[in-house]
Amino acid sequence: MKGSDINNIVIVGGGTAGWMAAASLSRFFEGKSSVITLVESEQIGTVGVGEATIPGIRQFNYSLGIDEIDFIKKTNASFKLGIEFRDWYKPGRRFFHPFSDYGVSLQGVDFHHYVARLREAGAMIDLADFSFSTQMAQLNRFAQPHEQPPSSLADFNYAYHFDAGLYAAYLKKYAMNRGVVRKEGKVIDVNLRDDDGFIASVVLDSGETIAGQLFIDCSGFRGLLIEGALQTGYEDWRCWLPCDSAVAVQTDLFGEPSPFTRTTARDAGWQWQIPLQHRTGNGYVYASRFVDHDIAATTLLSHLDTEPINNPKRFDFVTGLRKKIWNKNCFALGLASGFLEPLESTSISLIQTGLSKLMQFFPDSHFNQCDIDEVNRLHRIEFERIRDFIILHYKATARNDTDFWRFCRGMEIPESLAHKIKLFESRGHIVMYDHEAFKKESWLSIYNGFHCQPQRYDSRADRMSMAELKSHLEKMQAAIAQAARQTMSHGDFIARHCQA
Ligand code: FAD
Repeated sequence: MKGSDINNIVIVGGGTAGWMAAASLSRFFEGKSSVITLVESEQIGTVGVGEATIPGIRQFNYSLGIDEIDFIKKTNASFKLGIEFRDWYKPGRRFFHPFSDYGVSLQGVDFHHYVARLREAGAMIDLADFSFSTQMAQLNRFAQPHEQPPSSLADFNYAYHFDAGLYAAYLKKYAMNRGVVRKEGKVIDVNLRDDDGFIASVVLDSGETIAGQLFIDCSGFRGLLIEGALQTGYEDWRCWLPCDSAVAVQTDLFGEPSPFTRTTARDAGWQWQIPLQHRTGNGYVYASRFVDHDIAATTLLSHLDTEPINNPKRFDFVTGLRKKIWNKNCFALGLASGFLEPLESTSISLIQTGLSKLMQFFPDSHFNQCDIDEVNRLHRIEFERIRDFIILHYKATARNDTDFWRFCRGMEIPESLAHKIKLFESRGHIVMYDHEAFKKESWLSIYNGFHCQPQRYDSRADRMSMAELKSHLEKMQAAIAQAARQTMSHGDFIARHCQA
């Protein structure tokens, strides 16, 4: 058995993807002689957004040995218990997607089947009352989960909102302390080997040529290596995810930071509000065929809590997937590998899972094609699962007040998603395929938030008497409400534990 003989890696791009890759690889190669070079161009800059995450980010930081409190202080981070959705189902309605379970399963039957049974009997049950993190979010409170929670009712997960620029700087310091070499400059050419078309080197505007064995493309939407040099191809998913533009602006923090991201449906898309310790990130993600860019910017500016502190910045993108993230000796991460729009804050998480696939299938200089094919297969599956989850948010709307929402309601959806919706509507069964980034509870929160009600429930939920069932639910609800009231305000939690 031999280890890998790859010891010269070139990363192109120094945004969140580039520095996450540099930090991970420097950790991966710790104690071994290897050269990791990262090229970035201050003149080109980074996309500069991407400030809301999902819980996997905690595992990523942990794997690097990063101290949580230090990270929170240095990136002005706040905690994120989930996402609040306003006006998505209908104007005036809201719901929460928490990073936690609802209730506990009883006698081996998922909790939501009991809720369906009670609802069928005429009870008004709010699923949110059975989610600890939703209750904390509603009170603007936060606590960290117990390592060994006394009951699964108190078990929950969380993520962060952070300043993307500060996070990249944090990882940069981490990586450079572990020997990563940073080169400032613009890549103006890519040299391919004559025999097999693999990348041999990149050429900077200074004239310097940087050779490598493995190239990580983190150059953002342009996909300088994976597309520019290797012409890998891109699959356009705008037929299902029609938003293709965004405008973003920052404001001062208005009141205490909320422990959740807020998204509010607008005429041709949706608006985000991401609270950090010192400011709020705001943006309007929209479909440019349904609204003019200028009107979108005006819409955003007219829905801010306070005055903007910078000029609005526009982004154009094509939702979809690079046909392969790994092509020859080039591995694409971040925006270079595809983009699913930011509704469920999944891009940074996809950088992380991309990196763990690279580590798991780390090549040697022969670049075994079956490994490459497997990584591409897994990556596609992961992208498709998240794609379906996001499409559900649009397809399930009851809004028909604008052309955009009428389009979303009427659009064809992938068969994989249609199958899931059909089974949920028929009998409350939540289909889980392999490699789902979002678990059952997440799907349930979206079905429930959009009032998708099953026609039947699991008949095993009838085994408990109605009186016993009601008593269980009352106890659960009371325990959760009491535990949430005992937590401290999110602002106080940060001030006490995490301020610089
Ligand atoms: P970039 O930040 O664009 O970095 C590209 C790097 O490549 C830069 O350093 C640039 O200088 C360098 N580069 C490019 N060309 C050259 C060249 N020729 N020579 C040298 N260097 C070069 N993700 C989330 O997880 N959560 C969110 O809430 C979220 N919100 C988003 C909102 C919007 C509107 C958009 C567009 C994206 C959002 N994302 C979000 C995605 C997230 O921003 C990205 O996944 C993340 O920032 C990684 O970007 P990147 O590093 O791939 O690209």
